[in-house]
Amino acid sequence: MELMYKSTRSNETATASQAILKGLASDGGLFVPTQIPKLSVSVEELSKMTYQETAYAVMKEFLTDFTEEELKACIEKAYDSKFDTEEIAPLVKADGAYYLELFHGATIAFKDMALSILPHLLTTSAKKNNVKNEIVILTATSGDTGKAALAGFADVPGTRIVVFYPKGGVSPIQEKQMVTQKGENTFVVGIKGNFDEAQSGVKAIFGNKELEKEMDAAGFQFSSANSINIGRLVPQVCYYVYAYGKLYAEGEIKEGEKINVVVPTGNFGNILAAYYAKNMGLPIAKLICASNDNKVLYDFFATGTYDKNRDFMLTSSPSMDILISSNLERLIYKIAGEDDKKNKELMTLLSDTGRYDITEDMRACLKDFYGNYSTEAETAAVIKSIYDKTGYIIDTHTAVAAEVYKKYAAETHDETKSVIASTASPFKFTRSVMNAIDSSYDAMGDFELVDELSKIGNVKVPNAIEEIRNANILHDTVCEVREMESTVRKFLGI
Ligand SMILES: *Cc1c(COP(=O)(O)O)cnc(C)c1O
Repeated sequence: MELMYKSTRSNETATASQAILKGLASDGGLFVPTQIPKLSVSVEELSKMTYQETAYAVMKEFLTDFTEEELKACIEKAYDSKFDTEEIAPLVKADGAYYLELFHGATIAFKDMALSILPHLLTTSAKKNNVKNEIVILTATSGDTGKAALAGFADVPGTRIVVFYPKGGVSPIQEKQMVTQKGENTFVVGIKGNFDEAQSGVKAIFGNKELEKEMDAAGFQFSSANSINIGRLVPQVCYYVYAYGKLYAEGEIKEGEKINVVVPTGNFGNILAAYYAKNMGLPIAKLICASNDNKVLYDFFATGTYDKNRDFMLTSSPSMDILISSNLERLIYKIAGEDDKKNKELMTLLSDTGRYDITEDMRACLKDFYGNYSTEAETAAVIKSIYDKTGYIIDTHTAVAAEVYKKYAAETHDETKSVIASTASPFKFTRSVMNAIDSSYDAMGDFELVDELSKIGNVKVPNAIEEIRNANILHDTVCEVREMESTVRKFLGI
């Protein structure tokens, strides 16, 4: 039976491939599966599967209009030697938790897990739906999505990609990774604004019907690589399932034993994928949502009020510097009893007033979630303490999760085995990581620090970093927020 997708704001429906092509529903809502499918493999079977086999077992349940051949081809092309380990997502035990390393892909952050497969899902979807237009990917990034999307789409026939990032709001290494991107079909632009402004600007361009008509006439159509695309979300469910199989294979858990997952959260995509994994039947107890100083989600779980009216903070975990967590809408829709009118009401309040309150009934559906946050000082301290105790070096985003996990364990005395999503390599945020270990490192240059990190952590410098050491800057466009649309037009020549 075919699994359909529907908008969170109306009864607009789509097949999986149509939802992947569209990104956002026409009413501005997000596509959600009409029901969460169940996993059809046993833990015993899971424990013997490779990452690719696990990915197929999970994704075939969600993307039911893809043939086995199509889906397997996408998986093979995505999870190959672009990853620096055959395991794709290794699990490392350190300091009383299991770190699920999601940073072994082309750009050394977890977004590679989905963005290495999205271009293939998208071009396959285009073929299936007889789309002749060239697909133009438009993305706002807080740092990691941009490079991962650029790497995924560069020189993929039938696609072009435009990435907007907040100038000055991403790490120097993140910026260097993006502005050195090769590929005839790539375009990178810094905007004079923050991530939320970049994201709102992209949403406005997507919603511009006049532009859409002009694009179509010129043989183009937009699609989104942002984490609202169901083609991003579904591949992220796979690694939670894989981690569970691994824990069982290694004798760390018994069959059916519940685990917690801890996720450093920004747009709420990664943790929502864990929630979907739980709903598929994976034995997950708590979903622990970790925030940095931009603690909108912590406040939301604590009070039932989502309120983005607050100062935006630049932190050492910039990929989580977000005040509007777009994917939360999928959870809101679900806990509103899958009521698109109710959800739309709340989302309208959010865009009009910057806040909304959920009802007591809705709050009662959030029992599986625990939210907390880590301050800048706590994040630095936990990097140092884990390094001092174990020699293992984690990045700033993962450290936010490690600190929140410590707070959770201290508060609840829950001893359930816990998997921490390790979302970036420490080499991506070298300066913050090294300063946390010893502030005297701050005197060193960026690449000196990279070599020092490699030495003290006893880990090889990843290829992604070696590549940009001497790379040329190929993109230097900077624009105002209000110039985003004209910048896109210039790139497309319309
Ligand atoms: C994007 C990102 C996050 C946040 O993930 P969401 O799915 O947006 O919640 C956390 N850490 C890193 C390193 C990221 O790149």
